[in-house]
Amino acid sequence: MVEADDDDGRIERAARLLRDARHVVVFTGAGVSAESGIPTFRDALTGLWERFDASDLASADAFRRDPALVWGWYEWRRMMVMRAQPNAAHRAIAALAEKVPRLTLVTQNVDDLHERAGSVGPIHLHGSLFARACDVLFSVGTSSVVFPAAQVPVEAHRAGAKVVQVNPNATGLGAIADFDLRGTAARVMAEWVRRAFL
Ligand code: NAD
Repeated sequence: MVEADDDDGRIERAARLLRDARHVVVFTGAGVSAESGIPTFRDALTGLWERFDASDLASADAFRRDPALVWGWYEWRRMMVMRAQPNAAHRAIAALAEKVPRLTLVTQNVDDLHERAGSVGPIHLHGSLFARACDVLFSVGTSSVVFPAAQVPVEAHRAGAKVVQVNPNATGLGAIADFDLRGTAARVMAEWVRRAFL
């Protein structure tokens, strides 16, 4: 029998795929939060930001050109996300993790709606507007020059976390690190964890 190739038919066939899956990866982008009222980068900005283009503002070049402007835009986005609620898509993904043997959630989104819907430990490929809930950040074996990743320890420091760098070589992070431990990762990390807990 030929199955109907309408949305219902396709969703049913995809559902069957899921029932047999061993390791599911869910990869999400801005569209998953659109129905929570958070505009994607393809939507025109509104209000104060209507003359700007989101994909121009979200770049290291834009930040270097006008940090106050880009910072203001991020604050505006933070406020918007704080007012937003997870939608049925976020909740379905969180529920799916309970049903399949293994699920990894990888998101490009910088909001925290997956977490607030109940997903545990999503991988935020592009960082998070809320990268701030730690009290100690270890920066291990990174030159801290590739942005936006290099901003992560800086943000943690700004939010009051202690920053510990482990690197045999000096990096720009040394200026803000509370502890700058010079040595190889294998030696310093093993020794440090041993002293802390043994
Ligand atoms: P994008 O803006 O480039 O594209 C959004 C996509 O979502 C489009 O293909 C659009 O057709 C689709 N879409 C719109 N509404 C949808 C809906 N209700 N359901 C399903 N799909 C819908 O976003 P992108 O591909 O994630 O990549 C660009 C960057 O945007 C990422 O780096 C991300 O960090 C950033 N971003 C994140 C957020 C957020 O965290 N919520 C919001 C805007 C942009």
